[in-house]
Amino acid sequence: MSDRTYLSWPFFDDAHRALAEKLQAWAEKHIDADAHAEGNVDRQCRDFVTLLGRDGWLRYVVPKAYGGHVDKLDVRSLCLIRDTLGQRNALAEFAFAMQGLGSASISLFGSDELRRKYLPDICQGKRIAAFALSEPDAGSDVAAMKTTARLDGDHYVIDGTKTWISNGGIAHQYVLFARTGEAPGAKGLSAFVIDADTPGLAIAERLDVIAPHPLATLSFKNCRVPKSHLLGKPGEGFKIAMATLDIFRSTVGAAALGFARRALDEAVDYAKRREAFGQKLADFQLTQAKLADMAVDVDAAALLVYRAAWTKDKVADRVTREASMAKLYATEAAQRVIDAAVQIHGGVGVVSGRAVERLYREIRSLRIYEGTTEIQKLVIAGQVLAAHGNGPA
Ligand SMILES: Cc1cc2nc3c(=O)[nH]c(=O)nc-3n(C[C@H](O)[C@H](O)[C@H](O)COP(=O)(O)OP(=O)(O)OC[C@H]3O[C@@H](n4cnc5c(N)ncnc54)[C@H](O)[C@@H]3O)c2cc1C
Repeated sequence: MSDRTYLSWPFFDDAHRALAEKLQAWAEKHIDADAHAEGNVDRQCRDFVTLLGRDGWLRYVVPKAYGGHVDKLDVRSLCLIRDTLGQRNALAEFAFAMQGLGSASISLFGSDELRRKYLPDICQGKRIAAFALSEPDAGSDVAAMKTTARLDGDHYVIDGTKTWISNGGIAHQYVLFARTGEAPGAKGLSAFVIDADTPGLAIAERLDVIAPHPLATLSFKNCRVPKSHLLGKPGEGFKIAMATLDIFRSTVGAAALGFARRALDEAVDYAKRREAFGQKLADFQLTQAKLADMAVDVDAAALLVYRAAWTKDKVADRVTREASMAKLYATEAAQRVIDAAVQIHGGVGVVSGRAVERLYREIRSLRIYEGTTEIQKLVIAGQVLAAHGNGPA
């Protein structure tokens, strides 16, 4: 079992420690650590949402007033849950994460009416949520977004394409970002909630990726959304997207951390069992050096993830710098740790279905979505430079 000493760190309250222990025990009972997303990922994902909703874990993704667990989203709880589920099963972790990412903009910026309509069912696992920001020509460059929302009476009319949308095809509604044109670039975007069965919204294509989960390209043609489904004010879309990512980037780091912890466990277990040249792999100093590097990467990632989460919960409303550092470091570190775990397994490490082989595929997208590694570096550098003032060096 993974090292649990991090739970004694001062970032956590006793309630967090109890949550982590309870979820660990629950996950061991209900979530198969060896099953992986092959075959019907839609069904598996729906089943995980139902299970997580039934047993109360989704109550951490919405505020108390709408059926949730705490008054406002608690980033340390979200991170602990993603870390713990990530150690067991990436699709279960994904199912949990998307209920949060796909509903946070509603929790943070929705009217009371919208919150009442969507959040209770999301936290009971009865509605599946999604977040539709990216487009074929607007990934890292969000401000290049082309999808438009034109006001027509009591409705906005949406036209355009969204792609890489997780839960696309199984979601009941999407938080959708579109250009309303109050100003050029990022200041002319708005956010909406749109039901998946709205006429004019279609699944243009399902996307198959190296670690499958429900993923699609969506097309919007003359698609009418009630004006009341606007989140925040017209022109606030970019702000809403960034505020949502400010919470969820740290939690992507937490998921990567969970994957890395599992890889380290698998590597230690294998190194203690496998013999070569008359001794166990774990007895070779070259293996020990690898294990030491992996353990340092895991702890450093955990410190950055839980520092960012604690800062968001306790100190600052925006944690752009801390969240970007956590996401950047934890995802890159997890890739290194998992690669080393595959190496320690030798040929066995690349056999389909083996835990480390799955992790090797599962970690890859986390370095890309919710802001690539390169974008995190730009964000961090921007914060560092701004902190030193705008004048000449
Ligand atoms: C599995 C998966 C799930 C996803 N789920 C969602 C989802 O649910 N909702 C959603 O809205 N989106 C989702 N995405 C989209 C994701 O957020 C984008 O893929 C990501 O933001 C990168 O955009 P892009 O793919 O267009 O790459 P690009 O923006 O074209 O970038 C290509 C490369 O160029 C680099 N680059 C870009 N700009 C710069 C720069 N200024 N300086 C240096 N390098 C740069 C990038 O870092 C990257 O390496 C998902 C993606 C994947 C792979």
